[in-house]
Amino acid sequence: MDSLLMEPLALSALPEAVSVPATLRPKAASSFQHTLGKSITGVGVGLHTGAQIQLTLMPAPVHHGIVFQRTDLSAPALPARFDSVVDTRLSTVLGDASNPQNRIATVEHLMAALHGCGIDNALILVDGPEIPVFDGSAADFVFLIDCAGRKTQDAPRQFVEVLRPVRVEQNGAFVELRPAPIPHLQLSLGIEFSAKAIGKQDFALELTPQTFRHELARSRTFTLRQEIEALHKAGLARGGSLENAIVVDDDQILNPAGLRSPDEFIRHKMMDAVGDLYLAGAPLRARFYGHRSGHGLNNQLLRALFADRTAWRFVPPKALAARSAA
Ligand SMILES: [Zn+2]
Repeated sequence: MDSLLMEPLALSALPEAVSVPATLRPKAASSFQHTLGKSITGVGVGLHTGAQIQLTLMPAPVHHGIVFQRTDLSAPALPARFDSVVDTRLSTVLGDASNPQNRIATVEHLMAALHGCGIDNALILVDGPEIPVFDGSAADFVFLIDCAGRKTQDAPRQFVEVLRPVRVEQNGAFVELRPAPIPHLQLSLGIEFSAKAIGKQDFALELTPQTFRHELARSRTFTLRQEIEALHKAGLARGGSLENAIVVDDDQILNPAGLRSPDEFIRHKMMDAVGDLYLAGAPLRARFYGHRSGHGLNNQLLRALFADRTAWRFVPPKALAARSAA
């Protein structure tokens, strides 16, 4: 597989704002499937193992979808689908129930970038058990996708249209999908934390490549100071630092440079949802509502949606036939 890899990019020089190159702006033809213009590789630290991980994004044919492949194991590829999710406690983890070694953690920020940038088909190669965390946001993934370019493919984009409300609740938290008359995913999310620096935050957004890039992509993951010690004791977050997460101590932000936006926390949670919901296997046409939700509820919501065959349909249906025949 090494012969397919390009030289890793240095990601340290990422600009403050991620601008949209004219050649990458989606055409009205966003109803067509898209893949990457070429393969691209980045290297970064895994949040939980602390190990250097090499990540390569490769173009893929129509109706391929997003598929992950470990290159350090001789193991089957893992489709980026809700029913390949094996753990959601600290991140969204894809895996193979018959081979516990074959798992890839922290896919959500890369999935959010692929969703937000309108990439339907890609093969993701990774030489370790997790996706690099980079700066804790999706900005570096957007940068890699921009460098690879975006190629229109000769097949209609397939959407999953939600036909009936589907809701999952747990301990006062909830997530819900409802039918929406527009071709995009609309999201509305709220969080409540006792830490004063976070508190109560709400955010709503209609997902397009532009809104993803400008409103969500640069928001970083966050953790509470008291949770860090527990993670370290469990052998987790070995690669965690102020370089790749916001650390909150009640009313204090411990990162010297502070926040990228006053509501960076809720924006990050929404970015997580954009990534988790792309595990539907196609973009959703729906309204998404969430309150105090996370990776676990997001995954349960997709499982509930697809368990009810009357709650969704593929649009256009012709693409369903193409997928079924593949
Ligand atoms: Zn996240």
